[in-house]
Amino acid sequence: RFRDQRYTVVEGDTLEAIFKRKQLSINELYEIIEADEPYLELDVLQPGDQLIFRIEREDNRLEALSRIVDPSKTVTYQYNNDDFIYQEELTPTDKIAEVTRGQIDGSFYVSASSSGLTDNGVMTITQLLKSSLNFRRDLRAGDHFQVIMERETVEGKTIGKDRLLAARVLSRGKEFGAYLHSDGSYYNAQGESLVPALLRYPTKKKYRISSHFNPRRVHPVTGRVKPHNGVDFAMPTGTPILSTGHGRVTRVASHRYAGKYIDIDEFGPYSTRFLHLSKILVKKGQQVERGQVIALSGNTGRSTGPHLHYELHI
Ligand SMILES: [Zn+2]
Repeated sequence: RFRDQRYTVVEGDTLEAIFKRKQLSINELYEIIEADEPYLELDVLQPGDQLIFRIEREDNRLEALSRIVDPSKTVTYQYNNDDFIYQEELTPTDKIAEVTRGQIDGSFYVSASSSGLTDNGVMTITQLLKSSLNFRRDLRAGDHFQVIMERETVEGKTIGKDRLLAARVLSRGKEFGAYLHSDGSYYNAQGESLVPALLRYPTKKKYRISSHFNPRRVHPVTGRVKPHNGVDFAMPTGTPILSTGHGRVTRVASHRYAGKYIDIDEFGPYSTRFLHLSKILVKKGQQVERGQVIALSGNTGRSTGPHLHYELHI
């Protein structure tokens, strides 16, 4: 009854273009984009991404669309009663600790990269130790560093989520360390936290919460049950939005329903997401400080009034 078609995303592809080429209904696409709003897993496609279309032979109706997010995670939008339901399939991962040692020869970035550390690893270490160690001024040729990174794999393939477990820089007889605790945060050898707690609110002033986190919310516009994976704060359009932690901007995008939005990967266990913005003031890849103005709030996408939708993920 169904045929499965695998599709590999190429440069410049959009879901809309792929649907058109496959002569699939654009309404089905919008239903799927709507089902994806709480997750935004389909919003940014990269060349090489794998999609699987399950299509009914008889009438070319889409039964399901899957995206292989990484070797450990596949998301599926499954047709059900004139709607598409989001499902996740997770494969257990193996975690391997990798030790890297090196000596300073040139900048920390150059030395650490040439000993095999990823940009993300270098950036995390620099952020964590910068309050006690001035990487540009204090390091000398011959200083040492030791790093343990955790790499998550499925059948030997990395899923692209490397995590710093520990780092130690030995500079002129002094030791600077950062260690990941089971609470997901980093501490030095004296047990002092290296990651300041996130701001409680992403705004300078505190605004009224107009909608709470709710996994079974009935959507105010569509009447369908759909998870609300964040908190809505009612505020006038143009209100400055603050980064709640130190982190790196991982996505700047615009979505039919979520509007203009930003994702930030925080140093430490969290990531944050901001939807329905009117203006975005940061770029993808940029590092942001806690309290930095990153955007102006708005009412973009499908929204019942000016507000900020704020998500905090662990
Ligand atoms: Zn919301």
